[in-house]
Parts: sequence; C-alpha cells; structure tokens
Amino acid sequence: MRVGRGSNAVYDVIVIGLGAAGAATLSALAASGARVRGLDRFNSPHALGSSHGQSRITRQAIGEGSAYVPLAVRSQQIWRELEAEGDEALFSQVGCLILSDPEDRNERPPGQAFIDRTLAAAREHGVAHELLDTDAIRGRYPQFVVRDEVAGYFEASSGFLHVEACIRAQLGRAQRAGAEVSSLSRVASVRQEADHVVTTLADGEKLLSQRAVVSAGAWTASLLGPPFDTLLSTTRQVMHWFPTAAGAEVEGAWSRSPVFIWRHGSGRDDFFYGFPSLGGQVKVADEAYGPGVPADTVDRATPASDSRRMFDAHVRGRLQSILPEPAFAAACLYTVTPDSHFIIDRHPDHPRIEVVSACSGHGFKHAAAIGEAVAEKLTHGASRIDLSFFALSRFAESAP
Ligand SMILES: Cc1cc2nc3c(=O)[nH]c(=O)nc-3n(C[C@H](O)[C@H](O)[C@H](O)COP(=O)(O)OP(=O)(O)OC[C@H]3O[C@@H](n4cnc5c(N)ncnc54)[C@H](O)[C@@H]3O)c2cc1C
Repeated sequence: MRVGRGSNAVYDVIVIGLGAAGAATLSALAASGARVRGLDRFNSPHALGSSHGQSRITRQAIGEGSAYVPLAVRSQQIWRELEAEGDEALFSQVGCLILSDPEDRNERPPGQAFIDRTLAAAREHGVAHELLDTDAIRGRYPQFVVRDEVAGYFEASSGFLHVEACIRAQLGRAQRAGAEVSSLSRVASVRQEADHVVTTLADGEKLLSQRAVVSAGAWTASLLGPPFDTLLSTTRQVMHWFPTAAGAEVEGAWSRSPVFIWRHGSGRDDFFYGFPSLGGQVKVADEAYGPGVPADTVDRATPASDSRRMFDAHVRGRLQSILPEPAFAAACLYTVTPDSHFIIDRHPDHPRIEVVSACSGHGFKHAAAIGEAVAEKLTHGASRIDLSFFALSRFAESAP
C-alpha cells in the first residue's frame, strides 16, 4: 500500500539518517512500494555515529523491558532473510551468556538483577534458555574465570550482528526496491508545512515529501530542537580489542565463545560485555555515564589509558589469556533518554514527521523490526508490533 501523495510532494517519505534504524526503515518503506529517499550526512555505514565497530550483541529475552522482546525476535528473522539475499554474514548465532556474580544478585532487591529480569522475560515470552551453575560455566567456557556462586543464563538462539554488513544489506535492499540513497547530504532543517514536509539540505536544496522519518541518532536533538534537545543526551563510549595469547587451545576457546554480558557487582560500573575472538582479538566494552556532549564535539581519540582502565576494571582476572596491550580501540556514541527507553513516535508539533531514536546502548538488535514497524505505521496507520511503549507522552506523564 502506498503512502498517499499531496500536490506538493515529490516523495512519499524522506528518511533522514541511514544508520541502523534509518537503513531498516528505508528498506521496509521501499519494499512496501513507497517512493522514498534516504539522506545521510556521511557515507553510511561509517564510524562517526552509533553503528560501527564490527559487532553488536543480539539476544531475545530482553531484561531491559518486555516490550522489546517482539522487536528482538522479529529482527533476528529479518537479518536471516536479508542474509539469504546477499553474500555477507549478518548474524552469527554463537549464543549469548549472561554471567552474574553473587553481589550482583544479593545486593539488589529480589528479582532486580539483570540476569533475573532476563530470565523473567524469557519465561514470559517462551524464549528457550539454560541456567548454568558455576561448575557448568567452568566446564563449558574455560575462557571465563568465574568465582564460586557465579550464575549463568545461556540463550542459544542469540549471538552477534555484523553491523556494517547489516546496514549495507538494508541499503542494498532499499535501492533494489527503488529507494534513492543520498550520501554526504546533511539535512539542515525539517519541518511540516500544511499537508507536506520540507526537508532543507545544508546546500539549500529543498525536498518535499508527504512524510519524513528522522533517525539521525546522536544528531536528532540538534536537528529537531525542543523537546528532543532536553530528552536526548549523547555520551562517548569506547570499544576495545585485546589480542588473545598465542596458543591453539586458548584461541579455540575464544573463537568458539558465545557473546557475554558480565555483571560482577552491584555498582553501576560493575559491568562489561564482549564477543568471540575474530582474527585473534576479543572485543570488550563497558558503559560510561556522565554529562551529555553534543555529537559534533565528542572526543574521538582513544588514548591507551582508556584501554588500561578497561583491562584493569573488568578483564584482568576474569577473561583467560587476554593480553593487556590493546590492538585497537574506537569511540562510539550512546544516545539516551531520561528513562533509558527508545523514542518512536510522531513529532509533537509536526505530526507528519516520525522520530525514531533507537538509542540507549541496545538499539541495534531491534533496528530491523523497528524499521519494519515504522514503515507499517506510515503506510497502514498501525504496526503489527506494538510501539506504544516508546511514545513521547510517557515523559509528559512523568513530569512533575
Ligand atoms: C559502544 C556501543 C556498543 C553498543 N552495543 C550494542 C549491542 O551490543 N547490542 C545492541 O543491540 N545495541 C548496541 N548498541 C546500540 C546500537 O548500536 C545503537 O542503538 C544503534 O546503532 C543506533 O542506531 P541509529 O540508527 O539510531 O543511529 P546511527 O546508526 O548513528 O545513525 C544515525 C545516522 O544519522 C545520520 N545523520 C545525523 N544527522 C544527520 C543530518 N542532519 N542529516 C543527514 N544525516 C544525518 C548519521 O550520519 C548517521 O548515519 C551499542 C552502541 C554503542 C555506541
């Protein structure tokens, strides 16, 4: 079903920002037959937003909230469909292991540890999983040095996504279905005028469309202004690649490893996650909190001190046979809302503009289904997966 066209509109929908969320939305809109154009200020996929660095964890039982589970499950199906259309690996189903030290579980209110919330989501949604005790973890995964009473949750259906390839695949599918993709096209402003949307590029060119989707990641706040400039905050995160020690046994364990998320205490910083080794390097990261920084001014440098801190705080004594000298590190951007949940909703003052902020550090795994659902909403008026949890109105309701 096509989006109706007004007299002034050239495009049915313009999608602004072609990262994880925008590429998926463009692809789904084009597949539905809409006349669409995607714009990105850089050449997507690129390493300046939130969707670079080789890999992202995907899992189905989402401890962050039950509303995410249908998005995660559907996204995995879409990645598989897309993978079948091309020749690049998109989804490596290596399994996902969540580890929880006793302090993580015992020093929180009952049921509030991430592993407990994950288990509750798995039970609610029927996600197949295994619970592992310390002996089982040690027996199956010698690369993790676990203390007594560390608990494990394992989901075999999950693993990691090859992020740059995923975006290339979505953009390729969109173009095959007739979408126009414009790189190096920075949008300076977007606004609704009467029955259409005017998108103005940095060079002054104006594009008209029936609807627009803003999926500009860390730049959404500066592009749209209020209320997004107070709701969205961007922080710098660093991903680190550490080499594995030489030796076939170790490299074998790391190359066969599941992805992992490890909460080793009850503090906010007692957390890190990582991936199997690819080419003899294991990628790990934690999360940095603090005041937000405008996306254009984020410090992209990754001094060795960043990786030393990461190694000492998390890796040392927990990951077997990982060398402390990093091979590589890269900065990346988180965009977070006050309650850490996504925003997927109409602009409050410009209802023809849909805002899609797949943010908060766990958006990639949901992006394919978010794109599909947003396309359904624009073309059919409603989506099969309920997006109401991500509505802007929740912030008005929670305001004093
Ligand atoms: C270090 C790190 C680790 C993460 N780990 C995970 C994980 O394991 N699992 C998971 O599911 N998620 C994870 N995430 C989160 C996930 O990667 C993000 O939620 C997701 O990539 C965000 O996608 P996006 O489309 O919103 O933003 P982006 O991919 O950044 O896309 C926004 C796009 O908009 C473009 N743009 C911006 N402004 C304009 C403009 N004015 N005109 C035109 N184009 C514009 C940008 O160039 C960019 O391409 C992680 C994020 C980081 C940073």
